[in-house]
Order: sequence, then structure tokens, then C-alpha cells
Amino acid sequence: MFNKKTIKDIEVTGKKVLVRVDFNVPIKDGIVSDDTRIRAALPTIRYLIDHNAAVILCSHLGRPKGGSEAKFSLKPVAEYLATLVEFPIHFAEDCIGDAATQAAGALQKGEVLVLENTRFHVEEEKNDPEMAQKLAALADVYVNDAFGSAHRAHASTEGVTHFLPSVAGFLMEKEIQYLGQAIDDPKQPFVAILGGAKIGDKIGVIKNLLTKAETILIGGGMANTFFAAQGYPLGSSLVDNDSIEVARELLQSAGARLRLPVDVVIAQKIEPGAETRSMDMGPIPDGWSILDIGPATVEGYAKVIATAGTIVWNGPMGVFEVPEFAQGTLGIAKAVAGSNAVSVIGGGESVAAIQQSGLADKITHISTGGGASLEMLEGLELPGVAALQDK
Ligand code: ADP
Ligand code: MG
Repeated sequence: MFNKKTIKDIEVTGKKVLVRVDFNVPIKDGIVSDDTRIRAALPTIRYLIDHNAAVILCSHLGRPKGGSEAKFSLKPVAEYLATLVEFPIHFAEDCIGDAATQAAGALQKGEVLVLENTRFHVEEEKNDPEMAQKLAALADVYVNDAFGSAHRAHASTEGVTHFLPSVAGFLMEKEIQYLGQAIDDPKQPFVAILGGAKIGDKIGVIKNLLTKAETILIGGGMANTFFAAQGYPLGSSLVDNDSIEVARELLQSAGARLRLPVDVVIAQKIEPGAETRSMDMGPIPDGWSILDIGPATVEGYAKVIATAGTIVWNGPMGVFEVPEFAQGTLGIAKAVAGSNAVSVIGGGESVAAIQQSGLADKITHISTGGGASLEMLEGLELPGVAALQDK
């Protein structure tokens, strides 16, 4: 299934190994506030250290405007990493140029060097060959373990592969195995759950999953655009007007395989303590918005989920950040956690929701990549993966 070489397929002992990791983690007041992605990279880093490689880590962090900005520095991440492992962690103030070259040159086997944010150079996102070559010059081998960035062809994810032998890390392998298997060879019945804010970004996902899944359960703001296509007045609900036409086409082609909520929770304000109403789906009063799926929908969806062999879930069922509108997402999380199916969850907010529910350990695989997991569900090839050596 996963047909790319990994670090197990090549010699790494005694080599300088440049590893693209996804250290794009939230930082508050200079302190890492969620270390999921750092921990997810540890198996690859440890394997390389155990095999006596010198490990050079590079990553982007946030969206700097093209020059260095203190708040997007990877230094706090390097310091945090040092608290997790027992081997030396060094830091270079730049990812290319003299600082990087000197630090990489001095790096010993069994040590790690963290390079500063690759996006401090505008060339990174332009996939500039010169920047890619400079990065490559620091090492003997390149490893891509940054699943969360694999959907982007940037200098540190794609460009660099043109200058070094390039293979996948363990996180990359794991992510693609779980997501790939769910999409290409799912244990049937395959049930997809799709929600989130807007339908616009996810139309390709719905289209692709309609060719694979037995049932697609729709919730969240995404359902509203389908309701609009059915002609319901929706009050102040979030509707993606540009997508109403394609939503209408999808409803027609999918038939009963695409399920919409039968009841909803509405409110006039999206804030804790807001007055809420639960209603069967129908015209939404002026000034009110659909903010969650209702209990009958949760019950109906839970029955489908209970019979599934494979479940893929992207997008919360409601505005789960506000307790009043979290019940739908929580109810679906319980159903997924309770099923015997292979379950895969991807998407920034979806992952936050499952973690908030306390049920994360009941899920087969929680993806570290939002955009990358969506592109896989859409059936697209990820450029950062395509560029790696085939087995
Ligand atoms: P993900 O990051 O998992 O891919 P999205 O980014 O598409 O998900 O959407 C997540 C957001 O959708 C959440 O912040 C949630 O508050 C919002 N959302 C869910 N349902 C609704 C709704 N009915 N109206 C407005 N926003 C919603
Ligand atoms: Mg999101």
C-alpha cells in the first residue's frame, strides 16, 4: 500500500540526515501549548539517533511575512524538544546560510540540530531551487516526516528531494497507511462523517467519498448549504452561497447515501449561556442560526456508525467550542469511539473536538495533518510524498 522507501530501507548510520518535521505547533508566551506534533515526530528522531545519525530538523511555524519574526521562532520548540529526549539538541538561528552550515558541520553523531523556521525565507513557499539546494547541502540524506505539510510543494518539502536521496519517516508512513487504507481499501461498510464550517473547501472531498463510501453523514455548517439547496429559509445560519448549486447537484447524484440532519439546535447568539431551541428541520426563524445537529440526528447517525467497518470523520457537527452547541459533536464522538470500526479522524478542529471529548484513545488513528488529510480524502496525490523514492 505505502510504496515509498522509509528510513528503514536506507543506510543512515554515520550520516547527516535532514528531516522535515511538522513542528508547526501553537506557542503561547514563548511556551509550546500543544506538543502533539512534536511527540509524533519522536519515533523517527529516536530511530535515527539510535542508528548513530546526526539529525538536522527543519520545519515551518505559523505564517511569517517572509522575514524573521520572533514570535514565529522555532527556538522554544527546540528547547521543548530538549525536555523530551536525553540526547543533545542544538539550535541554528537560520535554516540556510553561514549559521546553518557551521552548526550542521559541527554536528556530531547522536546529536540533533533544529534549524530556524524555513518560512523566514520567502523562497520556501516559492519552492525555490536555490534554497532547496542550500538546505540539501547541509546533509547526506533527506527524510520527510511532515505529513501536515506534505500537500505543499515547498523548498523544504519537495524542492530538496531533487538534490538528495529522499525517503519517508515513520509518521509520514503511518498517516498515509491509515488514511490511504481507509480510502482505497476500506473494510465495508465505509461511512464518512463530514462537517465543519464551510462546504466550499470540501466539495472535492464529498465528490471523491461518494465514489467510495456507502453513506456520508453530513453535519456542521456544511449541512446548511444543502438545506439552502433544498430551499429552506435559514435565518442567520452560515451558508456558503457560492456552493448552493453544486450542493443541489450532489444531493441529486448521491440520493439516500448522503444524509442530512433531521433536527437541529438553533440560537440567536453564538456564546455561552445563549438561549437555544431544538427543532425538527424546517424553516429557521429570522435572526436564528443552526449551530448544532439535534438529538434525533445523533441517534440516527449513531445507528449507521454502529454498523460501519471503516469510519472517516472530518469536521465538527456544530460549534463545539461553545458548550451549548457541543452535544452533537460529542454524541457522534461517543458513537465513533464505541464502534468496532477502523476509525480515522482528520482536521484541525475535528481533532481538537475529539481531544476535548476525552475519547481520543478510542480512535484508531488521529491525523496530525488538517489540509493534508483533506487532500488525501479528496483523492489527490501529495507532492511531498510523490517526490520520495519508490520502494
Ligand atoms: P476541520 O478543522 O476539522 O477541518 P473546519 O475548519 O471545516 O473543520 O470547521 C470547524 C469549525 O466549524 C468549528 O470551529 C465550528 O465552530 C464550526 N462550525 C461547525 N458547525 C457550525 C455551524 N452550524 N455554524 C457555524 N460554524 C460551525
Ligand atoms: Mg479548521
